[in-house]
Amino acid sequence: MSHQMPPAHPFDDDKLREECGVFGAIGVSDAANFIALGLHALQHRGQEAGGIVTYDADSGFNSARRMGYVRDNFTSHEVMQTLPGSLGIGHVRYSTAGSKGQTAIRDVQPFFGEFAMGGAAIAHNGNITNADALRRELIERGSIFQSSSDSECIIHLMARSMGRNIPDRMEEALRKVEGAFSVVAMTRTKLIGVRDPLGVRPLVLGKLGDGWALASETCALDIIGAEFVREIEPGEMVVINAEKGVQSHFPFRPQKSRFCIFEHVYFSRPDSILGGRSVYETRENIGRELAKEAPVEADVVCPVPDSGTPAAIGYSLQSGIPYAMGIIRNQYMGRTFIEPTEQIRNMGVRLKLNVNRALIRGKRVILVDDSVVRGTTSRKIKEMILDAGAAEVHFRIASPPTAWPCFYGVDTPQREKLLAATMSEEEMTKHLGVNSLKFISLDGLYRAVGEAGGRDPKAPRYCDACFSGEYPVAPSDMIEKGFELKAVG
Ligand code: SF4
Repeated sequence: MSHQMPPAHPFDDDKLREECGVFGAIGVSDAANFIALGLHALQHRGQEAGGIVTYDADSGFNSARRMGYVRDNFTSHEVMQTLPGSLGIGHVRYSTAGSKGQTAIRDVQPFFGEFAMGGAAIAHNGNITNADALRRELIERGSIFQSSSDSECIIHLMARSMGRNIPDRMEEALRKVEGAFSVVAMTRTKLIGVRDPLGVRPLVLGKLGDGWALASETCALDIIGAEFVREIEPGEMVVINAEKGVQSHFPFRPQKSRFCIFEHVYFSRPDSILGGRSVYETRENIGRELAKEAPVEADVVCPVPDSGTPAAIGYSLQSGIPYAMGIIRNQYMGRTFIEPTEQIRNMGVRLKLNVNRALIRGKRVILVDDSVVRGTTSRKIKEMILDAGAAEVHFRIASPPTAWPCFYGVDTPQREKLLAATMSEEEMTKHLGVNSLKFISLDGLYRAVGEAGGRDPKAPRYCDACFSGEYPVAPSDMIEKGFELKAVG
C-alpha cells in the first residue's frame, strides 16, 4: 500500500539536495532484492519515493512504485514477490521543494514505454535543461505525458525515433536532450547505462557473480557484495546482456568532462569511491585545505553533523586544534514526528541537533559545515553553541559560497534565497552573528579533489556552477523563463 510522506527532512530545508539515485542489475536471481538493497544504500540521494521495475519471461514487466523509504516499501514478501526476474532497475527520488511541490506517484520512476520491438523501462538521475522546450514540441506532435517529470521526455523521444532497436532509440533520444543525465534502462534482455557527455552525475559498473550491476555510487555495490569494476565514462553507453557481457560505445560528440564537484563535498556517501579516491579522504583533504587557507586561534574543532565530520577531522589534523563532537545528532528525529505540529516545527534544529555542553562551555569553537545555503540552520546552530556557553564561534565552510542555483539535478532555492548571492562574506558574518566565517576557495577545493594547480579558469575540470556561476551547459529553459547568466568580462 502506498502512503503519503511528509518531506523527508521536515526540520532542515537548508541543504542542497541530490534529487535521485539509480540502480540496475542483470544476470542475478531475484534481481529485485539486490535492487532494493542498492536503493537503500542510495537513499541519501532521494528519500521521498522509490520504484523498481523487473522483467521475467513468464510474467513480463512488473513494477512497484511507492512514496517513502525503500526500507518501508521494498522489504515485505508481499511486494517483492510481485517483482520476479533476473533483470531490473530502480530509482529513488527527492522531489524539488517549492517549485514543483511534493512528488506525485505518477512522477515516481522508473518510467515504462511499450515500443514496436518490446517494452523498455528507464530511470534517470540528473536534470534535462531543455525539457520544457522538448515537452512543448512533443505535445504539439501528439505525445501524451503521464507525469510532470522532465525524464519522461526521454521515453517520448524514444517512441518517435525510427531506430531499429531500443538502445538505438535511446541513443537518438538522448542526443536531443541537454543537461545532466546518468540513466539506467532495461529491455526484456538488456541492462543499459548511459552518462551525459560531460559526466555531470556519477554512474558505476559492478560485477556480481555471473551478473552485473549499475549504480549511482559504489556504496550501493558494497551492500550487495558486488565488485566495483569501473566508472561509466562521460558520454559512454554500456549495453549489458547475459551472452555478450558489457558492450561499450560513445554515441555523443566528445567533450571535456565536467563532473559535479559538489558530489565530492556533500552529495555522495563518504564510503563511496569517486574518481579513484575515497570520498571520505577527499573531504578530509578539504578540511586540511580549509585550515591552511583560513586558520584561527581556537580551542576545539567541531563538525556540524553528519556531513561536516570528515572536513572537521581534516581541519583538526592540519591545525593541531583538538577535534570534538560538540554537537550530537538525534538520528531518529525525522522518523518520530511524521506529522510535526507547528509548535514542534518551531523548535526546528533543536529537535535534530543537541549541543554537548560540557565540551563547549567557555571554549573558542570552530564549527565546520559542508555548505551554507540559506543560512537559516547556521544561525540556529550558532545560537545553540552560544547558549551552551561558548566563548567564540568561528564557522569554516568546506565549499565556496553557494551563490548560484544548480540546474543539473540538485534541488536549490531560487538565487535570491541563497545567502551568498545577496551578501558578501563580511555581511554574512554579521548576519550569522559569528566571530568569523570563512569558506574554502574554489582553488582550494580543486586542490583538495586532486588538482594540484587549482582551478584552471580556461578549462575547469569540474562543474562548479553553483559557486562560479559558469554553467557548462546553458540552462535554456531557465534562460527562457528570465534567468540571467553571470555577466562575462
Ligand atoms: S551546479 Fe553545483 S551542484 Fe549542480 S552539478 Fe554543478 S557543481 Fe554540482
